[in-house]
Amino acid sequence: MNRLRLLLFAAFATATPLAAQPARFEVPVVPAGARWFKGNTHTHTTNSDGDTSPEQVAQWYKRNGYAFLVLSDHNVFTDPKTLASLVDSSFLLVPGEEVTTSFQKPGATRAAAVHVNALAVTRVIQPIKDSTLLGTVQKNVDAIRAEQAVPHINHPNFLWSIDPATLFRVKNDRLFEIFNGHPTVHNVGGGDWPGMEEVWDGLLSSGKRIFGIAVDDAHHFQGEFNVTRANPGRGWVGVRSATLDSRAIVTALDNGQFYASSGVTLADVIVTATTLEVRIAQKADFKYTTQFIGQDGRVLATDKSLTPRYTLKGTETYVRAKVTESGGAAAWVQPVFTTRFVPRGS
Ligand SMILES: [Zn+2]
Ligand SMILES: [Zn+2]
Repeated sequence: MNRLRLLLFAAFATATPLAAQPARFEVPVVPAGARWFKGNTHTHTTNSDGDTSPEQVAQWYKRNGYAFLVLSDHNVFTDPKTLASLVDSSFLLVPGEEVTTSFQKPGATRAAAVHVNALAVTRVIQPIKDSTLLGTVQKNVDAIRAEQAVPHINHPNFLWSIDPATLFRVKNDRLFEIFNGHPTVHNVGGGDWPGMEEVWDGLLSSGKRIFGIAVDDAHHFQGEFNVTRANPGRGWVGVRSATLDSRAIVTALDNGQFYASSGVTLADVIVTATTLEVRIAQKADFKYTTQFIGQDGRVLATDKSLTPRYTLKGTETYVRAKVTESGGAAAWVQPVFTTRFVPRGS
């Protein structure tokens, strides 16, 4: 962890003296009447390489208790207007696309995959190629922002495509996938390559304000569901919003007003100037352990209750929480930044 962070920090961040005052959390403004909506922002249909029609895919998510879904086919815009009969006050289709391109690294046997989801698009966004990996990622992020849509950078470890230093340099991005349900995307890294949580802490510790999203990237709704197939129901988000509409949901995501999950449900996340508290929704007789994590990925505290709570000591730059349940699934509470967080370049 330290090695990665030092590498990023030495290369790009501007050293600024820490504020003298004890750290205080940036307290989010929670809109009146806000609730938590379960959704998935990354799924495929027969409009690209999925095995099931858009209508049946949307029905799967609606039937399984999701409040919203993004159909994100490769370079195809699936207009929710064509599925209007499925949409009601409890189920929303957010228009989307997986903007999909690649970059041929000099000397590499395989091209890097550059896949960036576009949330709340109104028409197809054509992927853009560039002469560098960073330029390829940046130009697609920028093309998505130019459409007033929200980008998230997908599965950086798929084909070991996007290294942490490149992720650090991208601008105008607030979201990247820390968990993707597809079986070949290497979420936890290995060998000489870091996992997505380690990368996340490296980026945060170097001053990049970025949130971690969990998605299905489902392709397979037919036949047996097993760990070798890209089935639905594995990665999702709980988004805090007053209303279930596309603009509100994607803005909340872009602002970090959500948690990511591979199976743990949270009832609430409560932030004050000095505390971060999580309310866990217990499932059957499952047990839970929460780690509060800060600068350089250090575990600041561990709490085994259903209402884990962290009180600032005064030197933290950010604090995030990871709730792990006894079945192995997790929920990732987004980082809460403090007055001691120094954004890169500032
Ligand atoms: Zn992809
Ligand atoms: Zn995908």
